[in-house]
Amino acid sequence: MRKRPGGAQRRGRLSPAGVFLLAGYLISIAMCLGLFGSLKPIAYTGIGLTSILVLAGTVWRRRPSHLWPWALITGALVLLMGKGVLRHALQTLGDVSANRSLLPDALALPGYLLLTVGLIGFSRWSTWKDRRLGIILDGMIAALALSLLGWIFVLQPFLHQYDSTIAISLVLLAYPTASIFLFVMTLWTALNPAHKHAPALWLLVAAVSGLFLGDVGHMLAEMNAIRLPGNLIDLPYALGYVTAAATALHPSMRTLTERTSRYNTKPMKGRIVTTAIALIVPALIATYRLGASDSDRVVLVTLMLAMTVATILRLVLALRTADRSEQILAFQAYHDSLTGLPNRRRMEEELSDLLEQPAVDNTRVALLYLDLDRFKLVNDTLGHSRGDMLLTQVAKRLRSNVRDTDMVARIGGDEFTIILNYIVSRSHALDIAERILASLRDPFMIDGLSYNVSASIGIAFASRGDTGVTAETLVRYADTAMYHVKHDGRDGVAVFDESMLPRVAELELERDLHYAVGLGQLHLVYQPIVALPSGSVVGMEALVRWTHPRHGSMLPAQFIPLAEECGVINEIGRWVLREGVGQLAAWRRQATEFANLYVSVNLSGIQLYSGDIVERVGDILAIHGLDGRSLCLELTESVLMEDTGAAAATLEELRRLGVRIAIDDFGAEYSSLAYVKQFPATLLKIDRAFVSNLERPNGADTAVVAAIVAMSRALNIATVAEGVESAAQAKRLHDLGCDMGQGYLYSRPVEAQALPMAVASLNAPRLRLVTA
Ligand code: C2E
Ligand code: MG
Ligand code: MG
Repeated sequence: MRKRPGGAQRRGRLSPAGVFLLAGYLISIAMCLGLFGSLKPIAYTGIGLTSILVLAGTVWRRRPSHLWPWALITGALVLLMGKGVLRHALQTLGDVSANRSLLPDALALPGYLLLTVGLIGFSRWSTWKDRRLGIILDGMIAALALSLLGWIFVLQPFLHQYDSTIAISLVLLAYPTASIFLFVMTLWTALNPAHKHAPALWLLVAAVSGLFLGDVGHMLAEMNAIRLPGNLIDLPYALGYVTAAATALHPSMRTLTERTSRYNTKPMKGRIVTTAIALIVPALIATYRLGASDSDRVVLVTLMLAMTVATILRLVLALRTADRSEQILAFQAYHDSLTGLPNRRRMEEELSDLLEQPAVDNTRVALLYLDLDRFKLVNDTLGHSRGDMLLTQVAKRLRSNVRDTDMVARIGGDEFTIILNYIVSRSHALDIAERILASLRDPFMIDGLSYNVSASIGIAFASRGDTGVTAETLVRYADTAMYHVKHDGRDGVAVFDESMLPRVAELELERDLHYAVGLGQLHLVYQPIVALPSGSVVGMEALVRWTHPRHGSMLPAQFIPLAEECGVINEIGRWVLREGVGQLAAWRRQATEFANLYVSVNLSGIQLYSGDIVERVGDILAIHGLDGRSLCLELTESVLMEDTGAAAATLEELRRLGVRIAIDDFGAEYSSLAYVKQFPATLLKIDRAFVSNLERPNGADTAVVAAIVAMSRALNIATVAEGVESAAQAKRLHDLGCDMGQGYLYSRPVEAQALPMAVASLNAPRLRLVTA
């Protein structure tokens, strides 16, 4: 189970931020309830100063990535504190007369400015200025709307009762206006999901709302619009100070100055709210302010104009943002993020478009498929980031070697394509390809070290308006030609022609074959071998199958010759031997029916002459606790003829282990019984070519089979007929003296789990297919 760091200990305990909040709130409330009596101003100053000290001290200790927003906020709190103290000293509260001292305001308003810049510092979408601007505009719209409402419903009606100046009205209005602006800005920042709803940010929202409530309360109190008990008026401010300090105490404070993701924003909500405010407020004004005075009109018109401008700006910004995100998304869908080049999708679209255009002249389109040589090695030895740098530089060189009308695309790891337009001849394209190869031969400088790189390029041509070729086939053709270069020693160019297709298919298959065993793509099927005429099972031949990821299930004829050619046969052969013997051991543990059955495994010449076959066979049998008689090894005549002396010696050794030896497909090639004599074979498998012709009466094959059987008997070798498909063939084979049969008549090759069933039904008396 995962443990939260210090989880058990912390549970139920308040964090430092929590303790500070609780204590600060309690003291603030006590103060406002008048518990400190005449000491209230001292208590208020104490709360403010403590908060400022805690804030500054904590920020200094925690050292977030950027100090300046915190420094500005601390400075702003100092100024606001100063304003409070001054106002108290000058007794300006409730004084709206023309000679009211504006000194405290001169201190406070710069404080709001500092606070604004500091809070903007927390909306660090540093790479995305529009988003920050949007938040500021939203704040401004809200502020203007509030000031309009404040002007109409509060200042105008009440200030008229006193003989006050417009300057004082505006100063009074400036406070809540500034604080609602800050509130909207902080709230929008907190709502940005990129901030993952950091608690510190929400504490900040709470602190700013304290400021806003305090400002509204003070504005109303100044004009005697409401009468609050003297102590209560300062409560929101006191709570605001305490909360601001708690913001810094919360561990999530560090995230506030961290850069956030630029796409992780949902601007819609904010846009709708601010637009709604902007639309509702003028409507309200129209309803309430029909008979306004001149000075009133000036203020109203100015505020409304400012709001209209802010709203228009906001909408322009919103549209621009939407437009830009659309552009970014479109770019991402069609470009490679590393090199900035078009990606495969874009390249294929471009190619399709070109092929669909009508032919206007004799020029053609050439597609170059470029693959860096041994790039995997570069990546593995230099590391991925240097590999990326190399790819970026390669991309630049490719781009600088072709015309603007040609498209260079990156379609995979180290694979690039270049669409060359207006190619007049084959040599024209070849020249460009050679030029590209030459440009890549200059060493690349990466982290101060130089690296040499080469590439293989395949070229395929198509004409505009040629409906016979699709973008996809053209890419495959160029890829095929590139593969050809790779196999011819890399670092070169080849032009595609049809004759390359089969060879490339083979090369690809060869590459896949190397991984087939490791990836578990091989499996064995088993075909029963039965005694004639009873039809009861004596053994089963293991036949390999390859489930290829693209070509599906493949038969041995489709890959064993290739495996022999490229040497993979040793690995495959070892696997078949292990698997076949292991399977027989498993069947023997499951059912007594298998006690006397053997498994027959095909051995290729390469395996026979590999030198360690006897040892391997011995080991595998020992591992599974089986005796030699449990295994039969099948070899074709051609294999034995390669080196008769060596083959005979190895087979002798295998015989000493008790292993059965079968000569497979006898008659298919040499049909030399004289040779057979030299080998210690125990079985001879008559090729199915003879068997299929047996049904013809008195055919030559009947005589051949009769002769094979007769001579085998003389040499004390049992015979197995291959490819028995009908009961008539089986009967004839038995008549000719053949001992055993194998073929579809009895069972097709089946999966391991289906074999016990097949064996059981063949052994059941009612299903005996040939009667004596
Ligand atoms: P094979 O050893 O002569 O195996 C018998 C082949 O005849 C099998 O084809 C089997 O499916 C097919 N067969 C069986 N009964 C009938 C029938 O009644 N009618 C007809 N028309 N065909 C029948 P498969 O599995 O395609 O194997 C082909 C050859 O591939 C095998 O010939 C064998 O030489 C080789 N092979 C199979 N597995 C291995 C292996 O694990 N290692 C090596 N080196 N060669 C293998
Ligand atoms: Mg065989
Ligand atoms: Mg055979």
